[in-house]
Order: sequence, then C-alpha cells, then structure tokens
Amino acid sequence: MRILVTGGAGFIGSALVRHLIENSDHEVLNFDKLTYAGTLTSLATVSSSPRYRFKQGDVCDERAVGAAIEDFQPDVITHLAAESHVDRSIDGPGAFIQTNIVGTYTLLTKTLDYWRRLGEARQKSFRFHHISTDEVFGSLGETGYFTETTPYDPRSPYSASKASSDHLVSAWGHTFGLPVLVTNCSNNYGPYHFPEKLIPLMIVKALAGEPLPVYGNGANIRDWLFVEDHVRALQRVFEQGIPGQTYNVGGSSERRNIDVVNAICDALDQREPRNDGKSYKEQITYVPDRPGHDQRYAIDASKISSELDWEPLETFESGITRTVGWYLENRQWWGQILQATTAAQRRGLGG
Ligand code: NAD
Repeated sequence: MRILVTGGAGFIGSALVRHLIENSDHEVLNFDKLTYAGTLTSLATVSSSPRYRFKQGDVCDERAVGAAIEDFQPDVITHLAAESHVDRSIDGPGAFIQTNIVGTYTLLTKTLDYWRRLGEARQKSFRFHHISTDEVFGSLGETGYFTETTPYDPRSPYSASKASSDHLVSAWGHTFGLPVLVTNCSNNYGPYHFPEKLIPLMIVKALAGEPLPVYGNGANIRDWLFVEDHVRALQRVFEQGIPGQTYNVGGSSERRNIDVVNAICDALDQREPRNDGKSYKEQITYVPDRPGHDQRYAIDASKISSELDWEPLETFESGITRTVGWYLENRQWWGQILQATTAAQRRGLGG
C-alpha cells in the first residue's frame, strides 16, 4: 500500500516510517513541516530506500496538502503531525489550535476531495487514521481506566486541541462517510525522543551533571508504552481496524514520575556510573508543578488486544534499559538538537 504519514520526522512518526520501511512492503510519503520537533536525522537508516520519500509542508497549507495527496495517491493517510508538548501549549496555545485543529481540518478536507474521486474498490479500502492521546479523557483518581467510551474531558490546551481534532475526524466519518480510525495512546518513550519530554530530558540532564527537575511531588502517574510497540499497534489498526472505530493503546505500565526518574538513574548507574561513584539520584530536585497537572492516566487496552490481537512486547523495565542504552550510543543525535534548540529549558509555568 501507499501510506502517507504526516509528522513522519517527529518521535512517533519517524518510528512508524522506520518500522514500515524495515518490516513491510508499503511505500511511504513523509509529509512534515520540520518544526523544532522534526528531525530528518531520525530517518537516516531508511532515507535511501526507494520506498521512502519526503515532502516538506505544513498540514495547514491547503495547496501543499492537496498536491502531496494527488501526487502520491495514498491508500492510507496516518496523521501524526501535531504540536505535542503540554508545557509549550501553556505558554503558547495558538500553534496548537492552528496545527492540531485547523491542520486536521485542512487534511480532512483535502482527503475527502481525493477520496470522493477514487473508484468504488479503493474508496472502500481507503483509511484515514488519526493518531491521538489518552490525555483527551482528562484525569483519573486512584482507580479506574480510560476505555473507548470514557467521556472526553481535556484539561490542557494541548489535550483540548487533540480532543477537537478527534471530534472533527469522527464527524468526517459520520457525515461524509470517510473511512476513519482514531487511536488514543498513552505516553510513549524510546529512541529518537525529543529531549524536552520527561524521559529523554532526564537522561541528557543526568549525563550533563545537571539537576533532574521533577514536577511537584513526583506522584503524577502515567501509563508508559515503548514507541516501537505503539507503531506496531498503528500498523495493525490501519490494516485491520474497523472504520468508524476508536482503539485505546497502552502499555499496562503505570508508573509515578519519580519512579520513572529513579529507573532511569538505576539504568545509568549501571551503564555509565558517575565519576564520584554516587548515584544519579543525587541530582533529583523537586520543582514547581505544571499548572493543571493531571494526576493519573491509565489505559484499558483490552479492545485492541482482543479484536486486533495486539500486545506490547516490551515491559517498562526492558524498554527503559533499551532507551537509556540508545541515548548513550547516540549522543550525536541529541547533542545536535541540544545545540540547535532550547529543548531542555523549563516551560509551561503559566506566568
Ligand atoms: P513530535 O512533536 O515528536 O512530532 C511532531 C511532528 O509533526 C514533527 O516532525 C513536526 O515537524 C511535525 N509538525 C508539527 N506541526 C506541523 C505542521 N503544521 N505541518 C506538518 N508537520 C508538522 O510528536 P510525537 O510525540 O511524535 O507525536 C505524534 C502524534 O502522536 C501527535 O499527534 C501526538 O498528539 C500523538 N501522541 C503522542 C504521544 C506521545 O507520548 N508522544 C502519545 C499519544 C499520542
């Protein structure tokens, strides 16, 4: 099949592109604006494949989106392009409204134009797959899980913009008959993760001998999924999922933030001990919390497991070990990013 991936130079998008080129016969067009979060070096291992192409463009740019679709003639569009960092959405929500909502609307409009002109068989097999987050469901107390029927209750500008885009996708399915799929996934981690997000930020700060800033009391809980498990789920959903359905994707790996940071320190203590023989945990410092910080997210992934036979392959422990190993072995990848951007700076205090 011909798969158009938006946001294919980002963290999850690049993992999906690498996975499809390395493990399938699909052809891939990566359509990405290359914002601060997009890095073509994440695609170096697959960029010379004859089944891979790249087009730089903005999902809000109707002409560029239309041209990419007409030129590539996709069988599937997987939509990952987004502004993705909650802290940035507190300081500057405008870009989130633009890319996540207007961009999704633009992509849906041009997709519908294209889809309506396909023959009957290709119309039937076409899929528009929107990649979303569990953050649209709000925050949980100590118990319970998000299921596909949990009501939406987004609380940050980021999650509100993603919730909006999920509703638009659903509306294009119901109203216009476009074969749409939505997946809502928990926190991803793994190789090529931009070093502003918790796990890679802690690794690079630990190695730099800097304080490890844990928000609030470190007790907020997230469910963590290794990115390669997520992209296997995405392929399963656009190949076998039922149009109009949504699927929750999660790792059944709930951890408090402080436990995540401790696990990173333990892995680093083993792989690259500090010169003074002390643990990297000495560098942990508690800093003011994120405003509106959701307390707990937890995913019930039983639907994708029973209906599409998907399970994560990594445990949190094996995934963290792989991730820390990757950051130790790929310092050039993140060193370049830290030099070129202000990735590691504290954001989102809402002042
Ligand atoms: P990311 O920030 O690493 O990458 C986003 C990519 O989109 C970048 O390559 C960027 O250049 C591109 N992009 C941004 N604005 C664009 C625009 N206007 N036009 C075209 N390209 C644009 O994000 P990620 O972590 O890889 O997340 C990918 C998707 O998955 C997002 O939609 C996000 O909401 C969703 N998601 C992420 C997680 C997670 O833990 N990272 C969890 C669940 C869902």
